[in-house]
Amino acid sequence: MQTVIAGGTIVTAASTYEADVLINGGRIALLGEGLPTEGSEVVDAAGKFVFPGALDVHTHLDTPWGTQYTTVDDWRSGTVGAVCGGTTTLVDFALQTEGQALREAIDGWHAKAEGNAVIDYGFHAMIMDLTDSVQAEIPRVIQDEGIPSFKVFMAYKGVVQADDETLLHTMFTAAEHGGLTMVHAENGDATVVLQNRFAERGDLGVEFWPKSRPPELEAEAAHRAITLAGLAGAPLYIVHVSSAGAVAEISRARASGQAIYGETCPQYLVLDEDRYTQPDGAKWVMAPPLRHASHQEPLWRALASGNLQTVATDHSAWPLKDFKDQSLDDFRYMIQGVPGVEERLSTLYTYGVQAGRITFNRFVDVTSTGPAKLFGLYPQKGDIAVGSDADLVVWDAEVEWMLTKDKLHGNTDYCTFEGIPVRGRASHVFSRGRALVREGDYVGGKGGGRFLRRAAFATP
Ligand code: MN
Ligand code: MN
Repeated sequence: MQTVIAGGTIVTAASTYEADVLINGGRIALLGEGLPTEGSEVVDAAGKFVFPGALDVHTHLDTPWGTQYTTVDDWRSGTVGAVCGGTTTLVDFALQTEGQALREAIDGWHAKAEGNAVIDYGFHAMIMDLTDSVQAEIPRVIQDEGIPSFKVFMAYKGVVQADDETLLHTMFTAAEHGGLTMVHAENGDATVVLQNRFAERGDLGVEFWPKSRPPELEAEAAHRAITLAGLAGAPLYIVHVSSAGAVAEISRARASGQAIYGETCPQYLVLDEDRYTQPDGAKWVMAPPLRHASHQEPLWRALASGNLQTVATDHSAWPLKDFKDQSLDDFRYMIQGVPGVEERLSTLYTYGVQAGRITFNRFVDVTSTGPAKLFGLYPQKGDIAVGSDADLVVWDAEVEWMLTKDKLHGNTDYCTFEGIPVRGRASHVFSRGRALVREGDYVGGKGGGRFLRRAAFATP
C-alpha cells in the first residue's frame, strides 16, 4: 500500500516548498507537486506543514535510580508519548552498572526495548566504571554494536562521576575509533561541598536546589571537558546545556575550530528557577537545575546561530508521589529528572518559531537533521529526501492548546510544562511509512520499532 501526503508545505533544515510526498515500502519514494494518487491512501495536508520526524537523542526509559526506583515510562509508554509529539527516533542511554561489561549493559537495554518500542531507536553507552576491559570494548561497541557515542558524567560524585583521567581516556579511545564522547558538564566535587554547607545550616528545602548547583559549575566543567577534548583531538557533545556561561565556552571553542557540540532542552528554554519556590517545586528537581530567566535568551541565540546544534529532552519520568516526594526534607537525596518527550516540538515551535527566535528551518535542524548527522543516522533519518525513511510529521500550526498532563501519554503524575499555552501539534505521524498518529491520536499497535545501528562519528 502506497501513501501520498498531499498538498502540504515541506519544511526541511535547508528549504521550504510545496510538494506531495509518496511513501512506498517504508521510504520516501517520490516528491513533487500533483503526484498521482490512484491506488494510494491519501492524507490531506493542505494548509499544514510536513517535516522530517524528530530525533530525541537524550532519554532515560526504563532506567534505574539506585536499587529502589525505575523511571515509570518504559519503551512502550515512552515511545507512544514521543511519537504523539512528533518524535520518530529515540537514542536512549544504556546504563552500565559497576563492574559490568558494556556488552552486558547493551544486551540489557535491547531486552527492554525490543518488542516494546513503537518507533526506531538507538543507544548511547553510558560509562560508569572505565576498567581496562571496558576501555578495550569501545572499538567493538562502535563497529559491531552500532553504538558510536559514549556518555561520561562530571557530576554525581561517589555514584557515576568520572575523574578527569577517565574522561581523557574515554576521549582518546573513542576518537581513535570513530566515537563521540558526551558529557554531563557540572563540577560534581564542588557541588557536594556547596550542598553540604547548605545541609549544615539546615537549608535542605527544594528552594536551595538551584543554589547548590550554580551555573558557574556548569561553565567550569564545560571549559574543562573542552580543554581535554582539545588535547585528545576528540569531538565532544555536551548534553543539556542550561546556562549562558556554558554556551560561551562552547561558542569560543567552536570559533577556534574545535569539534564541540551542544544540546539544550525545552525546560531550560521556557522555565526558570522560580519554580523551586513553589510548594510543588520538587517536580522540577533536575540537574542542571532550572536557571534564572536571564539564561534563556542566550540559549535561544545559540540555537539560532548554530552554536548549539540540538534540542533533546532528557526525558526521565519520575512521579512526584512515592518517588520525588520521598526526599522533600533533604534535596540532596531527591530523585532528579523531568518528563518531556512529548512536549518538545510544540514548545519549541511556539516559543522558538512563532516567537521569531528561530526559523522554521532551524527548528527542523535542531530537532531532526542536526541530531541525525551528529549521531550517525543521516540521511536514513533527519531529512525529507527520496530514499530516506518515511519518518514524517504532518504539523497543524493553527491549533492552539494547553500543555497538561491529561493530554499526554506518559506514566508520570504531572506535566513539566503544565498550563503553558502552545500553538501547533502533530496531526499525523509516520514511522517508516506506518501511520502511528492520525488526527492527533495514537493509532499504532504494539512494538514495531527497530534498533538502529548507527555509523561512526563524522564531522557534519
Ligand atoms: Mn545529566
Ligand atoms: Mn540525562
